[in-house]
Amino acid sequence: MLKYRDGLADLPTYDTTEEDWNIKINANECNMNLPPIVEDRVMGRLSRLEFNRYPNTEMDDLKEQIAANFGLQTENILIGNGSSEILEKLFFAFGGKNRKIVYPQPSFSMYGIYVKYSESMGVPVELEEDYSLDAEKFITAVKSSKAALAVICTPNNPTGNVVPLGTIEYIAQNITCPFVIDEAYVEFYGESAAGLLSKYPQLIVARTFSKAYGLAAARVGYMLAAKEITAMIDKACMPYHVNVLSLVTADIVYQMRHEFVPRIQMFIAERKRMIKQLKTLPALTVYPSETNFILIKYDKAVELNEYLENIRIGVRSFGNAPRLTNCLRITIGRREENDEWFKALKDFMERV
Ligand SMILES: *Cc1c(COP(=O)(O)O)cnc(C)c1O
Repeated sequence: MLKYRDGLADLPTYDTTEEDWNIKINANECNMNLPPIVEDRVMGRLSRLEFNRYPNTEMDDLKEQIAANFGLQTENILIGNGSSEILEKLFFAFGGKNRKIVYPQPSFSMYGIYVKYSESMGVPVELEEDYSLDAEKFITAVKSSKAALAVICTPNNPTGNVVPLGTIEYIAQNITCPFVIDEAYVEFYGESAAGLLSKYPQLIVARTFSKAYGLAAARVGYMLAAKEITAMIDKACMPYHVNVLSLVTADIVYQMRHEFVPRIQMFIAERKRMIKQLKTLPALTVYPSETNFILIKYDKAVELNEYLENIRIGVRSFGNAPRLTNCLRITIGRREENDEWFKALKDFMERV
């Protein structure tokens, strides 16, 4: 009998196995590869890489760029192996035995898993019927649990809606524990909590290159926070935790981020177009979204999902996750992909 760490066997597995989808709209990825001009620069840079050396100045180069963009210093930036690493380390650093971590539900499913990884105790705060967040309820949960960490994802995955910046600030004024804003989808919305960092020293903003910048393969994310916080979280990371291939790629993507503006605008326009179209199907509940995906609710979601799978369209179903029964999350793809999945949805609904 092999003896593993207590609790490890009970952890859920984040299932990442994929089928050979014709249209892959299940993971909120960008359905376009890098803009060719960016890809050229990346390839040129990679061809000059010193593969034999540990990462050296590459992480600092990226930090400098990010710091300059936010009017911060490099000490305020921590780069991670995806924002997943940042989040996991935050839960590890502030969590632990008998420590409470507060986050809304439904939200990013990994929060519950990081709670378990870090042996902390999760305190989920139920979102309202329309998935909006009741700030008072959240503040009360943080205070009464004496929370060690509070996390809000906005725009929220998987519901798509936002917690307005004014509400984020109101919460920040009323809680004293570290407060993480997961902004994985902020580029599709536009309003960031980053501007509040100077006023609220316990605030932490987590960002990723995986969604709007279409760099999911490279696994690069970052956080913005007070120097004291980044220094402590850094201690929880391994030496050289982000590889050079990813660092130089992210560095070029960030330098050339203006090249991504037109496509981000296109995805936003497509989201609006698809919400309008989905609303013509009366059997569906269509939730508002400020992201690159749309959440829908439908009585026959299980059957619809099966139908879509059979024609090799992969959307995200949540099974019977709390508050997400009969919900499907559809990532916005390219225009022709969106036309195709919409037609499939309509065909299904006309048949049943
Ligand atoms: C995708 C996602 C992340 C993680 O992104 P990385 O690829 O690890 O950078 C974090 N939070 C939310 C809400 C996400 O949807």
